[in-house]
Amino acid sequence: MSQTNTILIKNPYILSDSIKKESILLVDNKIEEISTKLSDNDAEIVIDAEDKIAMPGLVNTHTHVAMTLLRGVGDDQELQTWLNEYIWPKEAKLTDELVYSASRLAMAEMIKTGTTTFNDMYFFMEQTAKAVEESGLRAVLGYGMIDLFDDEKRKSELNVTKKLIKNCHNTANERITVAVAPHSPYTCSEELLRQSAQMANKNDLNLHIHVSETKKEVNDLKNQRNQTPFEYLNDIDFLNDKTIAAHGVWTTDEEMKILNEKNVSIAHNPSSNMKLASGIAPIQKYLDNDINVSIGTDGVSSNNNLDMFSEMKLTPLLQKVDTLNPKVIPTNETIKMATENGAKALNLNTGKLQKDKLADIVLLNVNVPHMLPLRNPLSNVVYSALGNDVDTVICDGEIILENKELTKINESEIMEDIKEIYTQL
Ligand SMILES: [Zn+2]
Repeated sequence: MSQTNTILIKNPYILSDSIKKESILLVDNKIEEISTKLSDNDAEIVIDAEDKIAMPGLVNTHTHVAMTLLRGVGDDQELQTWLNEYIWPKEAKLTDELVYSASRLAMAEMIKTGTTTFNDMYFFMEQTAKAVEESGLRAVLGYGMIDLFDDEKRKSELNVTKKLIKNCHNTANERITVAVAPHSPYTCSEELLRQSAQMANKNDLNLHIHVSETKKEVNDLKNQRNQTPFEYLNDIDFLNDKTIAAHGVWTTDEEMKILNEKNVSIAHNPSSNMKLASGIAPIQKYLDNDINVSIGTDGVSSNNNLDMFSEMKLTPLLQKVDTLNPKVIPTNETIKMATENGAKALNLNTGKLQKDKLADIVLLNVNVPHMLPLRNPLSNVVYSALGNDVDTVICDGEIILENKELTKINESEIMEDIKEIYTQL
C-alpha cells in the first residue's frame, strides 16, 4: 500500500460534457467515493481543486520509453530506412545505464503530461522497471524480442523474457506487470511467435506486438505466406483477449472479423503513423466492428514526444479528414480510447473515475487562456488542452506531481544527466 491513506480532491470539475463539480475521496490506492457531500474532515490530505478538471490518468498503450534518448534521430524517413539506417545502429550501443537514464527522462515527461500507465516494449527492461518503481508510475513492461529467424537467437530472446517475468512481474506494489513482447511478424520467426503466445497464456500475461504498420509489411507477408498479418497470427494461435496489436494501419475487413472474434485490442499511434507516412489506421471501422481501440505515442523518435494530449487530439481529427465526416469519433469516444479502453487492453483496474477503481487521477489547470471559457470540460480536454496543463498527478493513491513539481524523482538531476550522456549514442 502507498504511504498516504486518505486524500480528498476537493471540488474539481468532473470530466464530462457538462459542468459538474464533486469531490473525490481516495483511500489507499483506490477511489472510495465521488460526491458533493464530502468534507475536509474525511481525509488526511486535502487538495484544493476548485479551478481544476479531474480526469482519469491517461493510458499510453504503445511506447518504447527509453527511446527518449533518440529524440531527434532520423526525422523524415520511411519506416524501413529509419529502422535500418538510423535507429538500429544506435540501439546496438545501448547499455543498462543509458536505458535507465532515458527511462527516467521519460517518466518525468509522462507524469508531467498526465500519463499514469504505459505499455512498453524495449531492451534492458529491468532498468526501465527501476525507473518506474522510483517514479510512482504504473507500467506493463515487455522485452522486445527479435530473433530474425535464427534458432539460437530465439532461445536466448525467450530466456530474457523469462528472466524479466521472474524479476519484475507484479513488483512495485503491483504497479509493474510484465508482458510478452515479440517485436513483429517480420522480425520474429513463427516459432518465436508461437512460443511467445504459449508463454503469455501460461503466465496469464499480455502479448504486445507491432502488426500491419506499413503496406510493405503486409505485401511482403502476402508474398511469403499468401496471408495478411492478422490472418497469419490467428493461424498460429497468437491472438486472444490479452493481445495488444500496435498500429493495425492496413487491416482488412476480413481481419476485422478475426480481431472481433478473438477480442484483440488495437493500440493506435496517430503521430507515429503520420510522421513515418505509414498510413491512416481505420479507427472508425474498428469501432464499428466492436474492437477495443486504445491510444499510444509509440517511441519518441517517431513522435517526437510522449504527450498523450496531442495523440488524443489527432485521433479524431485524422478519422474526420479520412472519412470526410466530422461526426466520427466524438469527444466521449476519444477520451475512452485514451483511458478506459487502454485499461481494458492491459487488464488493469484503472482508466475511470469510479468507486473501487485504482486511484490514478490527473488534475488539469482550467485557469489558462486556451482552456476558457469552460462550457464543456470534455471538449476542452480533447481539443484544447495541452500536456503542460497538467497540474497534479496521483498514481496508485500517491501524489507524484504537485503544482507541476515532481514529488518522487528529481527533474533537474534527470535532465542534467541526459545532457551529459546522450552523446554516447
Ligand atoms: Zn512501436
